[in-house]
Amino acid sequence: MKVLVINCGSSSLKYQLIDSDTENVLAKGLCERIGIDGRLVYQKAGLDKEITEAPMPTHKEAIQMVLDALTNEKTGAIKSLSEVEAIGHRVVHGGEKFASSTLINDDVIKAVEECNELAPLHNPANLIGIRVCAELMPGVPQVAVFDTAFHQTMPPKAFLYGLPLKYYKDYKVRRYGFHGTSHSFVSKRAVEFLGLDKDNSKVIVCHLGNGSSISAVVNGKCIDTTMGLTPLEGMIMGTRSGNIDPAIMEYVAKKENLDIKGIMNVLNKKSGLFGLSGDLSSDLRDLESAAGEGNENAKHALEVLAYDVAKFVGGYVAAMNGVDAIVFTAGIGENSGTVRKMVVQYFGYLGITLDEEANNTRGEEIVISTPDSKVKVAVIPTNEELAICRDTVALVK
Ligand code: ADP
Repeated sequence: MKVLVINCGSSSLKYQLIDSDTENVLAKGLCERIGIDGRLVYQKAGLDKEITEAPMPTHKEAIQMVLDALTNEKTGAIKSLSEVEAIGHRVVHGGEKFASSTLINDDVIKAVEECNELAPLHNPANLIGIRVCAELMPGVPQVAVFDTAFHQTMPPKAFLYGLPLKYYKDYKVRRYGFHGTSHSFVSKRAVEFLGLDKDNSKVIVCHLGNGSSISAVVNGKCIDTTMGLTPLEGMIMGTRSGNIDPAIMEYVAKKENLDIKGIMNVLNKKSGLFGLSGDLSSDLRDLESAAGEGNENAKHALEVLAYDVAKFVGGYVAAMNGVDAIVFTAGIGENSGTVRKMVVQYFGYLGITLDEEANNTRGEEIVISTPDSKVKVAVIPTNEELAICRDTVALVK
């Protein structure tokens, strides 16, 4: 079955056409600058990327351009749109309404709309993608795959904040967690790859990218995760602060004459590795090379990152009363042997020793702890699009 996977952002859209039987990507790309000017990147498997600048006033024109590229006579991956048998959409926030992926119908759209307030930048864009696909490809079943769904198994002690209960009851203020599709995919794969017993397993997934989150997974079910009501909570990220003393907000607001919006902008866009490195970069590669050249701010940013990961992992080892495997994934987790080494140095108390040679390997599933380590540490590349494709097929078949 050919499945179109769509991840709609506010001004961008990523897509992949996947053959679910072989799990091969037939074509992929993205639309950028939707509503500004418009740029389509399209790549059929085995061919070079094509870049087309063209006006995309709304997501409708963007999706139409993707469909035209997919069916283009010369470079299209399919002959006709009728070959697309299902569409899977990434939806950021499913609130407490969705604990798993679901076939989209009018009731689902309404329920997703009710979660818009919890993810005002993302959910409305996801819904536009769903509506435009329904219009341009009527009759093709669509599935919503939620970033929050995997974390819905967290118990109240993990998802409640120490705030007036009214905020949870009336405004749904609680920990939801994000990157769920990745945490689910990687934790399942870890159990298979490492030969763990799926009904008796304790896995910690460190999804370290621009946005980063860590989750604790017992017997395949998430019991805790670092992101919260929003993706701002938890560990330090590319430009997001992660956890801070909430009172800093009032203190800095007065000093810098900022309102709530201004403070939120700082916490989301000007903090994290970027802010801590003295506005050097949010990109880990830049920080690694600056640190290599002796830049102290870059060094501190890397140290805070590794220390944060080690502390959350330690907390989850305590929460699970043990751990069988610690897994790194996403841009930093998969690619930075330097960060992994810095993190693993904290794990001596778990009986873990780093296999330096394995740690220097890139781009594949690999165990990076030595055979005599008491807990396994591994790198497992995430693949959110494939996870969305699999869920979509399972629901439409
Ligand atoms: P997003 O959250 O945007 O999906 P990614 O998972 O793509 O982010 O991760 C982006 C991060 O991964 C960036 O900080 C980038 O520097 C880092 N990264 C990518 N490739 C490498 C590499 N070869 N070495 C070190 N860091 C890398």
